[in-house]
Amino acid sequence: MSDREGAGVHADVSVLVVDDDDFVRSTLLRQLATLGVARSAGAASGEQARALLAQATYDIVITDLQMPGEDGLQLLRSVAENQPQAAVILISGVDPRLLRAADDVARLRGIHVLGSLTKPVSTIDLRTLIDGIDTPRATKPASAIIAPLPIDAERLRKALEDNQITIALQPQALIKDGRICGAEALARWTDPEFGPIPTQDFIELAEQSDLIELLTDSVVKQSFAIAADWAQIGLPVRLSINLSPATLYALDAPEKLLSQAHAAGVSPDQITLEVTERGISGDATDILEVLARLRLLGFRLALDDFGTGFSSLERLNRMPFTELKLDRSFVIMAPTDAKARSILHSSLVLARDLGLFTVAEGVETAEQLALLRDLGCDAIQGYWLSPAMPPSALPAWASPRIDSGLATRK
Ligand code: C2E
Ligand code: MG
Ligand code: MG
Repeated sequence: MSDREGAGVHADVSVLVVDDDDFVRSTLLRQLATLGVARSAGAASGEQARALLAQATYDIVITDLQMPGEDGLQLLRSVAENQPQAAVILISGVDPRLLRAADDVARLRGIHVLGSLTKPVSTIDLRTLIDGIDTPRATKPASAIIAPLPIDAERLRKALEDNQITIALQPQALIKDGRICGAEALARWTDPEFGPIPTQDFIELAEQSDLIELLTDSVVKQSFAIAADWAQIGLPVRLSINLSPATLYALDAPEKLLSQAHAAGVSPDQITLEVTERGISGDATDILEVLARLRLLGFRLALDDFGTGFSSLERLNRMPFTELKLDRSFVIMAPTDAKARSILHSSLVLARDLGLFTVAEGVETAEQLALLRDLGCDAIQGYWLSPAMPPSALPAWASPRIDSGLATRK
């Protein structure tokens, strides 16, 4: 309301200040009091901050990056995990590139970053950043910022038994002519009591509790039934399915998937199996065998979230992938970040040299699309095209985009 730098302006905001430097910390706490912040606390270390975060919730966490013991980046991780509602201000006396990297890490973890400050901190700058808490956050979907839900393995097991785990399909289109070339099956769980559960959360739960095999079976079964329907109606769209690392460690996975495909009446070449880059970081021999046999049987193989793991080029060259999916973190940053652009560029050059089809994930804007076109990417997936939809909606959604694509090819 008033522009006055006075009491009462931020009376309802609670702030945690984390800095090992006593002078900086107490100065910040005094500055906050000047700005009318009624509830604030100070922590002299990352460990102390974590203890305070376990006792009370804060709207804003102001943290130094460099601290002995637990540093600011470790603290950001526990903020993301335990208090995802909290916004963050970073302070540092160090290299601005490090500050930027920390800023990126925080945003990628879904944290609302209000900005960063360099020491000594001016009260005006501090106030400007705190004012930012009133503007809605722009990043991450709501699913990523809600508090952890009281779901557990038993509830998930029951949900699987009751067929509560369904799939949604997100289409993929060729950049050159807009034709729909594929769709990815994404697991969905709407709990009768808690509503939709974030996918990443229950996938992790399944992986930690031996339920992943049941979950994969259910997703595969639903996906194959859909692919069989599409083959019947002549819809030329491939279906992608995500496989967990646990599946790849099972040497009988190829036979199992093949017999499921036969039972459903699906040809393996209609199916792309997605494996994350992190998923192939373990025992190379078994994974290589499973991948090679899946490919021999005719399945297509995509390396998912490419760029987030550390696969060596040599190793990638030996793995029989047919497709590379560029991780959405690079797509998001590409328009404003030269480094992200150069990672996309070199990934696309590598993919072309290895003869791999390329799909960019998480494309949300026309600007990102234009950039990917210039860089020579084959296809896109993301909200710009469409979010995931119920499987029954896809044929009607896709068919005009397939016909017009064919028409323009003459
Ligand atoms: P993924 O395979 O990389 O899937 C893409 C994720 O990005 C999906 O999240 C999708 O909804 C989201 N997404 C798509 N377009 C956009 C966009 O334009 N912007 C943004 N911000 N996000 C977009 P979802 O459905 O929450 O799935 C998360 C992850 O969970 C998947 O990442 C995949 O690794 C895993 N997952 C999903 N379904 C299954 C499954 O059936 N089995 C296994 N093992 N993992 C699965
Ligand atoms: Mg995927
Ligand atoms: Mg991905």
